[in-house]
Amino acid sequence: MPGDTVTSRVTVKDMRRGNRSALLRPLLLDGPLNRITLGQLTGLSGASVTNVITELLEERLVVEAGTQESEGGRPRVQLGMNPDFGVVIGVDIGETGVRIEAFDLTRRMLGGAVVPVDPLRPAVNDVVADIAATVNQIVGDVAPATPVIGVGVGVPGIVTGAADQASVNAPNIGWADVPLSRLLSGALAKPVFVDNCAKTLGLAEMWFGAGRGARDAIVVLLGTGVGSAIFSRGHLFRGVSSSAGEWGHTCIAMNGRRCRCGGSGCVEAYIGGYAIVEQWAARSDVRPGTAGEEAVIEELIDARGRQPGADKILEEVAQAAGVALASLVNLFNPERIVIGGWLGLRLGPLLLHRINEVLSEQALAYPAARVSIQLGELGRDAVALGASTLVLDDLVARGGKPRPSDGALPRPRL
Ligand SMILES: [Zn+2]
Repeated sequence: MPGDTVTSRVTVKDMRRGNRSALLRPLLLDGPLNRITLGQLTGLSGASVTNVITELLEERLVVEAGTQESEGGRPRVQLGMNPDFGVVIGVDIGETGVRIEAFDLTRRMLGGAVVPVDPLRPAVNDVVADIAATVNQIVGDVAPATPVIGVGVGVPGIVTGAADQASVNAPNIGWADVPLSRLLSGALAKPVFVDNCAKTLGLAEMWFGAGRGARDAIVVLLGTGVGSAIFSRGHLFRGVSSSAGEWGHTCIAMNGRRCRCGGSGCVEAYIGGYAIVEQWAARSDVRPGTAGEEAVIEELIDARGRQPGADKILEEVAQAAGVALASLVNLFNPERIVIGGWLGLRLGPLLLHRINEVLSEQALAYPAARVSIQLGELGRDAVALGASTLVLDDLVARGGKPRPSDGALPRPRL
């Protein structure tokens, strides 16, 4: 029957794409690898691995990357992603600046820049124009002859819709229903993928950082605001409208401090960068808004042991973080929690011991004994790197066939 023919054709094509995806994922995450290891990792037959790899080598998406001695046999050829195949861009839209970085397919950072934004109400069109100009400038500087495969963007706030058609709601920066993927892909003529910044940080740490090897894990972002990315069995948990993981707005104090979200007693109102700055300002000469948040946090850290107020604030932060993390442990039973974000990475080494003490007092003993709390390994670039993984994820899902470079959305047929 003709119908059967069509079905089987689609199935063969899908299978081929599936095999290509299956091989590309470990090559991106763990390459270089040899054909035998790729077969073991993917469960594909030796013949399938050979066929697909031959195809990927011909397309120059994959290249040979030296040889590896094998016990008693011939040296095995190592295969890796071709760094010259294309550039992926990661963009981290923070509350005070936009970090833009270009990577090759082996995750090597080729170049980057930070563009300041109006910390109160960054105008969407200005941010889009700045990002587009900076991306073009970076690519022109570092890889003018290499095609840009796509642009991934991490933003604060709730991101709904598919990553390539995302809409952003970020009351903290005054953005409501902003169709950021469409605006940016229009400005850049490149495929653009957008997700929440805690989620892109989470992806980066899970793929390449402190979350590697864990399947049930939570990556928390401590910065000006607070968020998290929850992974269950290796998959990012999103909820019905993609706002799952808004841990910063769970309540840890009835009738507690006012939060930027309009609620009170939120985690963010105790351990968010802006909240800590407010606390320190109330007890020192610093006036909020007169110095950058990071500079004020450095002052606070410097004042430890000299000004009792500083020690008190840091103890409160450790307690609040321990209590709030204990809730995550009780609710999700993770094997690992990774603390990232500029503030998490700065305060983590100072407070982790105390945070762990509070956590083990507060969480149920059984899950608390089975979780390890670790600091992120990817530094401050993690949100941008994670945003670039949105592009890689799409490339892998498409079996390594980049989208057309005229934008993420199909053009309407006239
Ligand atoms: Zn809140």
